[in-house]
Amino acid sequence: MKAKAKSSNTPCPIWIYGEYITTPPKHPSGEVQTEGHYIDKGGYLGANVYGVSADTLCRQTAAVDKRKYDVYENDILLYETEEKIGYFIVQDIETTVDIINGEILDLEALQAEDIRIIGNLIDYPEFIEGMRYHVENGLDVPYLPVLDVMKTPVSFLKMTCLKCGHITLGSCYTAKHKGCGGYFTTEFTTKIYREKNIEG
Ligand SMILES: [Zn+2]
Repeated sequence: MKAKAKSSNTPCPIWIYGEYITTPPKHPSGEVQTEGHYIDKGGYLGANVYGVSADTLCRQTAAVDKRKYDVYENDILLYETEEKIGYFIVQDIETTVDIINGEILDLEALQAEDIRIIGNLIDYPEFIEGMRYHVENGLDVPYLPVLDVMKTPVSFLKMTCLKCGHITLGSCYTAKHKGCGGYFTTEFTTKIYREKNIEG
């Protein structure tokens, strides 16, 4: 089964993409690995097998986004048409949830050209509550075509606390201001227009 998961034996967990396996092939060095959770990136037999954390396992779906990137479970999708924007979470390989109105939808009902993967819930566990806070309080939902600006031409995310007014600049989306517990509303320091295509 094709999947991605976070590595469990690297200093900093990183996403590993490939074939999920529980019995790894013998390593080329002859070292035998025990049963567990692994992702095989492919290539020379047994050489690119990484131990992963089972609770971060996300199966690959049949869907792709507008950039032809494969969609995985727990991915956060920006849904964008001329008329509206919204956000979906990929619940399992067939279903997705609209976080604005809670509606459950078949993943295949979303057109590839209308969706863009902007992150994954495992990296941004507070994304849903951050957006829900806007919806429940009648605020405009932020337009976020990217949640990590590091490899993009966008300089920074500008997060303004809706409770105390504190402003934080950062490279990654954060839902809450730790200082006071209030929710942030988020925009970019570089003005992003909806028609602009952000790489990354
Ligand atoms: Zn605050």
